Amino acid sequence: MDYMQRHGSKRSRPAELAPGTLRVISVRMSYWPEDARDAQEILEDSSLAYLSRYALGRDYHKVMRNALARLAGDLSRRIGPFGYRVCVDSAPVLEKALGRNAGLGWIGKHTNLIARDAGSYFFLGEILTDLPLPVDEPATAHCGSCSACLPACPTRAIVAPYQLDARRCISYLTIENKGAIPVEFRKALGNRIYGCDDCQLVCPWNKFARDAAHPDFKVRYGLDTPRLTDLFAWTESEFEERMRGSAIYRIGYERWSRNIAVGLGNAPSSAEVTAALAARQEDASPLVREHVSWALAQHAAPTSPAIALSRP
Ligand code: SF4
Ligand code: SF4
Repeated sequence: MDYMQRHGSKRSRPAELAPGTLRVISVRMSYWPEDARDAQEILEDSSLAYLSRYALGRDYHKVMRNALARLAGDLSRRIGPFGYRVCVDSAPVLEKALGRNAGLGWIGKHTNLIARDAGSYFFLGEILTDLPLPVDEPATAHCGSCSACLPACPTRAIVAPYQLDARRCISYLTIENKGAIPVEFRKALGNRIYGCDDCQLVCPWNKFARDAAHPDFKVRYGLDTPRLTDLFAWTESEFEERMRGSAIYRIGYERWSRNIAVGLGNAPSSAEVTAALAARQEDASPLVREHVSWALAQHAAPTSPAIALSRP
């Protein structure tokens, strides 16, 4: 997460990022895939892999960037040329705060943006522009006395309302984190092998969430309900071929395998699970080997029964 420091004040002053910027147009795009199998059912079946619902279709970066570029193009045809820069997760922009200031929603206690009419399952994108547009009113907050997301977090990453310890968050641990997944969090990951939605799944405002309208967010390769053993059997070239064009492609085969190994360590013990793990005990990657050996240890038979002593 050193990019936070690296980009310094550019994060809070978009004009330093794109000189001449006077306004930021914030845009949201719903991604919930209506064709996906029920999220809770997958989380409860630990032989299956759970992937964050935003990642089941094509990579949102490209979809959103194209949509924003089209919007800017339409605007310039109507009003004439103007300066702009499109941002989708690609530049050091405080997109949630900008979205809140633009009236798109409020930042909930889980630290995601929530809209009264769209819940929180949406991507954010921005157009930085030199157009002196009128400014919208910021959105008001509506978490009220609810605090459902705090205890719902498997790793207790929401340390207090509006405070996320990203180092504990499964999204960070399974996606941005390049090294080992700390042993203390491996059990809590359960079958979540790419991101996590738990804090959003319990949020009452998501009854207003909208299904994705864009066809690129439809589920690909059965990623809404894959078996862990099947995913772990993918070769690197199968991963490359199937995940190209998906946000998952960005983590690469090694991190992908690391995450699935943890999921398999948490799966119900079976000959199939141990065989899948054993097949990659000699994996070329030391990172994967270490996670495989942790996972196999979870399925090892207990060496001696626990004995409870009590006074007569
Ligand atoms: S995404 Fe998951 S791990 Fe991260 S804060 Fe939400 S519930 Fe916790
Ligand atoms: S679950 Fe409750 S507290 Fe958490 S973000 Fe949603 S409304 Fe706010």
